[in-house]
Amino acid sequence: MTAPPNIRRVKLLPDELINRIAAGEVVERPAAVLKELLENSLDAGADRLEIEIEGGGQRLIRLRDNGRGMDEDDLLMCLERHATSKLDQDDDLLAIATLGFRGEALPSIGAVSRLTITSAVDSGQGHVVTLAGGRLEGLKEAPANRGTTVEVGRLFYNVPARRKFLKSTVTESAHLLDVARTYALSRPDLRLTYRDGGREMMSVESRHDFRTRVYRVLGQAIAESLQPFDHQEGQVKISGWLSGPEVSLRSTANVFIYVLGRPVKDRLLNRALADGYGRILPPGQWPAAVLFLDLDPAEVDVNVHPAKTEVRFRQPGAVFSALSAAVSRAVGRGPAAVSRQRPVFDFQPAPAPVLAAPAAPPPWLAPESDPEATAELAEPAEPAEPELETAEPTAAISTLRAAPAGELDSAAEGRHFEPLRPLAQLYQSYILAEGERGLYLIDQHAAHERLIFNQLKATLAAGGLLGQARLFPETMDLPPLSALAAEKMRPRLEQLGFDLEPFGERTFILKSAPAILGQEDPWPPLLEILGSVEGRLKSADGAGLGEALEALVGSWLYSLACRAAIKAGEKMTLPAMARLLDDMAVTDKGAYCPHGRPAIQLIERRIIEKRFDR
Ligand code: ADP
Ligand code: MG
Repeated sequence: MTAPPNIRRVKLLPDELINRIAAGEVVERPAAVLKELLENSLDAGADRLEIEIEGGGQRLIRLRDNGRGMDEDDLLMCLERHATSKLDQDDDLLAIATLGFRGEALPSIGAVSRLTITSAVDSGQGHVVTLAGGRLEGLKEAPANRGTTVEVGRLFYNVPARRKFLKSTVTESAHLLDVARTYALSRPDLRLTYRDGGREMMSVESRHDFRTRVYRVLGQAIAESLQPFDHQEGQVKISGWLSGPEVSLRSTANVFIYVLGRPVKDRLLNRALADGYGRILPPGQWPAAVLFLDLDPAEVDVNVHPAKTEVRFRQPGAVFSALSAAVSRAVGRGPAAVSRQRPVFDFQPAPAPVLAAPAAPPPWLAPESDPEATAELAEPAEPAEPELETAEPTAAISTLRAAPAGELDSAAEGRHFEPLRPLAQLYQSYILAEGERGLYLIDQHAAHERLIFNQLKATLAAGGLLGQARLFPETMDLPPLSALAAEKMRPRLEQLGFDLEPFGERTFILKSAPAILGQEDPWPPLLEILGSVEGRLKSADGAGLGEALEALVGSWLYSLACRAAIKAGEKMTLPAMARLLDDMAVTDKGAYCPHGRPAIQLIERRIIEKRFDR
């Protein structure tokens, strides 16, 4: 046994250290700083917010508000631990009406950054205070408009351990933007602009109706899908917006829930939402939703977690059933007789929202006919090959093994099957072909899809897909997170044949598109890629993001191949069939489509003969 290293007397920690310890809980990453600053601005009655981010929030997070401001005394006081204007000693912790109340955000942030607060109670003269690593550097008079500007620079500069846990700039930016989105949707009259690296990524105005607000924050597809509802059950009032299944995701990224105006992440509420949708959504899929819950503040405990994103309900069961019932009624699953509002999914075409959108119908709203193409993040890896079905006489049909020079193959090296002669097309979907061994049925779409997929993979590996310049390059206003994804992915997109250039803030211009798309509208596949990357931005760090992109490219090749391949129901000429069969015989894994389904079946000659009793 070694002696304990240091035996010291029990004593109180110095404030600086306390604040740094608290910062570990409150200021987990740049996005958490922004959240605290936003809460403070809203608590100060601000309705106009300007956010600026640099370097993924590590270099700078600046928030300017038009709230009530602070005078000189308050400006000094707010930096003290447990200093708050939001609670009195008689106040009930179970009836908190403000977003903040703990009085620890500013001192915590100040302990791990260079913090500057400029504030004025009236326009004209104000004060500016500066803190570095928790130490007061100065307080002086400064000209200022009414309101407060908080600047957090060099976050975590004195906490290397924290810095190490930060993810890539783009990932932190995505988290920051997500926080800003959450607050931009939290109040219908809030003006908010958000800049990252000098570019305006998002802006909402007080004059916007809610749908336009959603359009600015979440993009057009969701804006057009959301339908309003409201509902009261007992003490619980619920209102908000729910999407149809067409914009659902495999994550809750587009679920925004506010309890008494406070954004919360709550499993119970999420489950109630899913419960309300029932089978309208496939399992594991989540809608887009913006939900406002109002109930007696005494029914909610917000003092559960330092970051205040969790709440505890006094009667969770009642809240669950109220939300579930509200949603189920709104989406048309509730008892019709009781329902006074029109169900979301039955409804007549909504009046076209007034959107600051491109005049043409948004291309990404084009109906997606191809389930493969919309599948989010299909595996990039080659699908496992199915087992060979043995050529049992009773089975009558066998699937050819895709192994190169497979043992079923009597023909030349490198072929998967013997040379075939096409006879006809069956149902305009299958090629009937004759070989020595029997009658072959070939799924024309599956076979062609495999060919194209392999070609695409080879071309991509050799440098990139051919892009075709667009005759009339169109611009597109991307939703904030997609814009971030587009920015990040540009070089990779270019390898895929998409030349997407920034054209103003969140507007991009598509100069070229993969030649293989031909006449097809390139925006749906492009937005599909961006939408999927969007989901990954927050979870991936630098390397992980790279992997995620590769996975997406892989899954995108599947969907491209699927789109480009000849469809079932399309007529083929005999020479075209012959060419397909020849190519198929020598292409890697040619007997299977890229998803692993068989593309060729054999009915053996001896089986045919046996059937005819020969
Ligand atoms: P809390 O929000 O829990 O009170 P903070 O450390 O976040 O604690 O803020 C401390 C105090 O500083 C607040 O109670 C408020 O009085 C004041 N304050 C902070 N930010 C602002 C702001 N943007 N405008 C006006 N007052 C502010
Ligand atoms: Mg606060």
